[in-house]
Amino acid sequence: MRSFRVLASCLASALCAAPLVAQQRTALPSARLDALKREAIADVESRARFTQQMVDQIFSFGELGFQEVETSKFIVKILRDNGFTVEEGVAGIPTAWVATWGSGKPVVAVGSDIDGIPQASQKPGVACHAPLVPGAPGHGEGHNTGQPVNVTAILAVKKIMEREKLPGTIKVWPGVAEEQLASKAYLVRAGVFKDVDVALFSHVSANLSTSWGPGGGSGLVSVLYAFQGQAAHSAGAPWRGRSALDAVELMNIGWNYRREHLRLQQRSHYVIPDGGDQPNVVPTTASVWYYFRELTYPQIKQMWAWGDSIAAGAAMMTGTKLVESRVLGSAWPQHFNRPIAEAMFANIKQVGLPKWTDADQAMAKAVQKEMGSREEGMPSRLDSTIAPEPEGRNMGGGSDDIGDVSWNVPTITLRYPSNIPGLPGHHWSSAIASATPIAHKGATAGAKAMAATILDIMAKPALVDSAWSYFRNVQTKDTKYEPLMRPNERPATFLNTDILEKYRPQMRRFYYDPARYGTYLEQLGIQYPTLRKSQDRCEDTPAVP
Ligand SMILES: [Zn+2]
Repeated sequence: MRSFRVLASCLASALCAAPLVAQQRTALPSARLDALKREAIADVESRARFTQQMVDQIFSFGELGFQEVETSKFIVKILRDNGFTVEEGVAGIPTAWVATWGSGKPVVAVGSDIDGIPQASQKPGVACHAPLVPGAPGHGEGHNTGQPVNVTAILAVKKIMEREKLPGTIKVWPGVAEEQLASKAYLVRAGVFKDVDVALFSHVSANLSTSWGPGGGSGLVSVLYAFQGQAAHSAGAPWRGRSALDAVELMNIGWNYRREHLRLQQRSHYVIPDGGDQPNVVPTTASVWYYFRELTYPQIKQMWAWGDSIAAGAAMMTGTKLVESRVLGSAWPQHFNRPIAEAMFANIKQVGLPKWTDADQAMAKAVQKEMGSREEGMPSRLDSTIAPEPEGRNMGGGSDDIGDVSWNVPTITLRYPSNIPGLPGHHWSSAIASATPIAHKGATAGAKAMAATILDIMAKPALVDSAWSYFRNVQTKDTKYEPLMRPNERPATFLNTDILEKYRPQMRRFYYDPARYGTYLEQLGIQYPTLRKSQDRCEDTPAVP
């Protein structure tokens, strides 16, 4: 009966390759599947030390978007050592790779971001601002914890699949340069998700949760506007010069006036990567980098068009040339798959939150106090719902280019509790917990839910069918994916090169050495938790090499 219905709806939609293939496979009996999931969860627990070492290692690399060289090398080696075939340099991005193991359907693609935040260098476990290398980047969001969640989960699942001879393919991939929203649309364009049945993404959070439907937050396009003027002696012959910086400033003024008449849901912000060289030379070149955020693809395109016209106006006013408007990144608004999110939520309830110790709670509360947040500590309860906010309630916010993946294959994000709630984000304070027992236990909890859900997908063909039915008949019924970047656009892999060139030699001295130290805290000689000593003294941990 069910097969017939699937066939009928397939013929009607004329888009039925994946469900039919899935339908031919047989499901594991549910008692057997439950036993395998329990086994996977216990296996993940037994790998807690391995997970902790990965979390600490990637934290110590602290690399920014497109410069995740050590991070990628480290994860790729683990995957190769464990029988995965790895293709590197995917989509023209040197630090992107796709690791594959197994054969046949279903194909599950498991991803997580790997990049850090500028100027977020921070000693873990110290509840106030204490950079390891002042000015250097660091994991001020906690992206160091995501691949450890995924890798731990897939190794536990792989062991079971091999023994049980379960068909299926696991792909692992990194979210490169997520902070620039700069890689996932290119992975989509390069066909990484072409044969994928379900994409499972993991992202750091303060609770163990997932969701379906519109993901909240915004989509965006990130555009660099570059102007060209004419140099002259700023005092001797200013009338002969045309300032590219004037164009940047007038564009920003224009945008800030326009902002008053935009929807409340929009977010837009900019930085000036090039503002000229020195005051006595009229700037020949200057550039400004905008993020235009809105809730839907047409609204993002509209904001971008306004930005373009204001840039053209600024060039006209200053007698300069707008020489380039380059897309540095883009992200579709996120939409997550209902059946897969429901399966994940059932597993989340099974796994539950980690047991936080008094030390964890003292750490969390001290950081919350430091940042002027409510001193609530770590959560003791799971979120009760995974349903989306009612329509019209989303007022915008952050973005993640997993949105692009989510409009190409059924996708969900698993959020796991490796960070402290109530922090400003993209900030050194979000690095404090990221290589401590909070991050380690949160990642293990995430890996358990991830492993159980991968097994659900491998063992229940009907789950994959219903995921595609939601994707085709609900999610993409009236909305079709079109990339935001233009066809000639290429990944902006030059980003952050100079920052890493400047800081990497100093950062290298702090790379974690798991052969010598049980944890990174131990290597750094940091007592956990280290609380602020006084009003004007953050800490006095021993000097590090
Ligand atoms: Zn993120």
